[in-house]
Amino acid sequence: MIVMKFGGTSVGSIEAFEQVIKIVQHAVAEQQSAPKLGQVPGVVVVTSAMSGVTNILIDTATQAAVGNEGHIDAAQQSLTNKHQLVMDTFIDDPAERADCDQTIADRLFQFGRMCTSIAALQELSPRSLDIVSGMGERMSAPMLAAVLRSQGITAEFVDAGDIVVTDDVHGGAEPIMDLTIARTQERLQPLLQQGVVPIITGFVGTSEKGAPTTLGRGGSDYSAAILGAVLDADEIQIWTDVNGVMTADPRVVSNARRLNQLTYEEVGELAYYGAKVLHPKTAMPAIDKKIPLRVLNTFEPDNPGTKIAARTENTVKGTVKAVTSIRNMNMITVSGNGLMGVPGVAGRTFNTVAETNANVLMICQSSSELSICFVVPAVDAGSVTLALEKEFTQELDKHVVDRIECQPDIGIIAVVGSGMRGVPGLAAKIFNAMATEEVNVIAIAQGSSEANVSVVIDAENLSRSVQALHTAFELDKPTEARTK
Ligand code: ASP
Ligand code: MG
Repeated sequence: MIVMKFGGTSVGSIEAFEQVIKIVQHAVAEQQSAPKLGQVPGVVVVTSAMSGVTNILIDTATQAAVGNEGHIDAAQQSLTNKHQLVMDTFIDDPAERADCDQTIADRLFQFGRMCTSIAALQELSPRSLDIVSGMGERMSAPMLAAVLRSQGITAEFVDAGDIVVTDDVHGGAEPIMDLTIARTQERLQPLLQQGVVPIITGFVGTSEKGAPTTLGRGGSDYSAAILGAVLDADEIQIWTDVNGVMTADPRVVSNARRLNQLTYEEVGELAYYGAKVLHPKTAMPAIDKKIPLRVLNTFEPDNPGTKIAARTENTVKGTVKAVTSIRNMNMITVSGNGLMGVPGVAGRTFNTVAETNANVLMICQSSSELSICFVVPAVDAGSVTLALEKEFTQELDKHVVDRIECQPDIGIIAVVGSGMRGVPGLAAKIFNAMATEEVNVIAIAQGSSEANVSVVIDAENLSRSVQALHTAFELDKPTEARTK
């Protein structure tokens, strides 16, 4: 049994739908002709909203929240047109078409009402935003099911709100696995046994209290992985618009290559440090059951893509797999002569940061203990600095803490590879490459997983440094051709 997730661009145009039809038909035929011993054959499809739809939904609601209702009609109209174009092309059966039109109209009516209330209250809570932002998948998934039926595939729409149970952290919910397992098995197993292909909304879930939730932007990947783990799938396929995970962002490094394989750990680090290809949490549900993930291109389905698993073959050479970077960061430093040996400063610092809900991407402390520094997204830096100043008011007065500094325009580069564990000289090589480029390294840290060395530098040097590291580690060459 396989889970196939189609991203926004994979359901974003007529051409994309044509590809998806072929890909699903092929997968269904393959599952039927060669069922794996002891396993239920079958295909489960998870879909994103059509590309651009989630943004329109969120923007319209955000405008409404400041009292601007003028965009609602236009948004409803453009979303209707977008879906109708697909239905016009693929759905001939009048009853099927009427049903599908009704579903889209109902959703958009509900969307309009939500936005009008948001405008009246001039308030957009994370809970309301989840209702609105999840509507894109609630249009694309029933429509995709109807399109696939029109092409002879026995498909049935399933709302993930009925099966994925989450906590109530709106805008970034986490699944509650035991409840999700029970509901998913109950809803999907009978379909799979009858040879039906469930077409499931990505991105959305329902809290234990019954409120609609979402798993965070780009969360359909995570949905697919959760369902894949629950169903113990043979493979989780992430169908997108590129040929897989690359050694670097091809817009930054022109000779970046597609990676044949990666470990869960590596893909986790890459996604966390800015690689856009997968939602950062996607690997997590797959790890325990060792379910391979595959990133594939809807528009080039014969390309082998990137396989992600617990281990990769040939880890002797090519210890470094990829270089990625992330911008719009600030570095915050708490320093003072009085910090030496004063217990609890680090603890208080990070407790304070945690209370602001800022995400700390990297931490370093100098061995002299005279300073602690850490990197947070620029948007959070102001509130973090304020909170720390408040927490350490007394220490600042007594000069135990001299300064709480915030350095803007920072970026992080992550050099990623599971094989880096225990390999000497890597940091030296990174420093050398940076030195040759005359880039000042502000801080360097190795993640606890040892699958990642991250380097903090001025954001203006990011692209140049990524290029230099890509060359230094010979990532432009196939693994076999590298000298190290
Ligand atoms: N449609 C959602 C988003 O745009 C989820 C996804 O595409 O994975 O963020
Ligand atoms: Mg998407």
